[in-house]
Amino acid sequence: MSSSAEDVIILGSGPAGLTAALYTARANLRPLVIEGNETGGQLVLTTLVENYPGYPDGLMGPELISRMRQQAERFGARFLKGDATAADLSGSPFTMMVDNEVRQTRALIVATGASANLLGLESERKLLGHGVSTCATCDGFFFRDQQVAVVGGGDSAVEEALFLTKFATKVTLIHRRDKLRASKIMQERTFANSKIEVLWNRRVVEILDPSQGKVTGVTTRSDGSSSLETLACDGVFVAIGHSPNTKLFSGQLEMDERGYIVTNHGTMTSVPGVFAAGDVQDHVYKQAVTAAGSGCMAALDAERYLENL
Ligand code: NAP
Repeated sequence: MSSSAEDVIILGSGPAGLTAALYTARANLRPLVIEGNETGGQLVLTTLVENYPGYPDGLMGPELISRMRQQAERFGARFLKGDATAADLSGSPFTMMVDNEVRQTRALIVATGASANLLGLESERKLLGHGVSTCATCDGFFFRDQQVAVVGGGDSAVEEALFLTKFATKVTLIHRRDKLRASKIMQERTFANSKIEVLWNRRVVEILDPSQGKVTGVTTRSDGSSSLETLACDGVFVAIGHSPNTKLFSGQLEMDERGYIVTNHGTMTSVPGVFAAGDVQDHVYKQAVTAAGSGCMAALDAERYLENL
């Protein structure tokens, strides 16, 4: 076993990775956290978090992440910016490339989270960053006094829609069904907001207008109908869920049909010594608090694994 290998490397710096860092740091394992290029994960893209226990008045997503990071750092967690670009889990210690440097570790905690899905339209790809966005918190400000559309019907979509009412004159939520998937309280807020209109049973088939290099509207169609409708707007926010960031481990860790890492007995993956926590292995709960909880579990599992080596 290489003497320069770390005890534990944690991939990802969302609530799962940072909680794993806190616990492994307190176990004197001096964890090395590979933060990724999107430090903090999805929480840094959100606004007010009202359902994280212990904060009765809520707190901003980036602040929650910053507090978790400070707490892990206080006990000796180390942080490295950048993404792991290759991984070899075929033997111990595990090897990975981070910024062209080889890193080795006896235990690995994968907490790489999930990233926003896109509709898959050519026009969407062309206009991404030019009126099409997956993050209202990041880009909402650019749409002051303009009209925007939000695509999706889950908590993310209604949260984005509500947030965008601070800037836009009108927000149209375009959903493919006749019922929202979002939590009841978020639905109530959506329906009570006079700036939000919901367009039910419609799918976006085109975003206009790539030839102008900006968004001028969206074309929608309802299932089973060929008639198209165009809605004029200046921006489109796509909020249709997420996919796990697991490409790095394809063929090396067991995954389900959607690419989520399969875990057993807590956070164990199909490779002994590799543990997975947070959204990368959870497509059911997907909450900051459940991610943090599984980060804690992964740290305890990794600690036990290292003790038994
Ligand atoms: P989600 O709950 O999976 O919802 C995705 C939405 O996008 C669904 O309404 C889905 O429609 C729609 N959709 C999926 N693919 C589509 C496509 N190709 N075209 C059109 N529409 C499509 O994802 P999410 O909203 O990102 O939320 C993820 C998790 O985070 C959830 O557990 C949520 O509770 C949580 N979250 C919580 C908060 C909060 O509590 N404040 C905020 C954000 C997220 P269907 O409904 O027809 O499937």
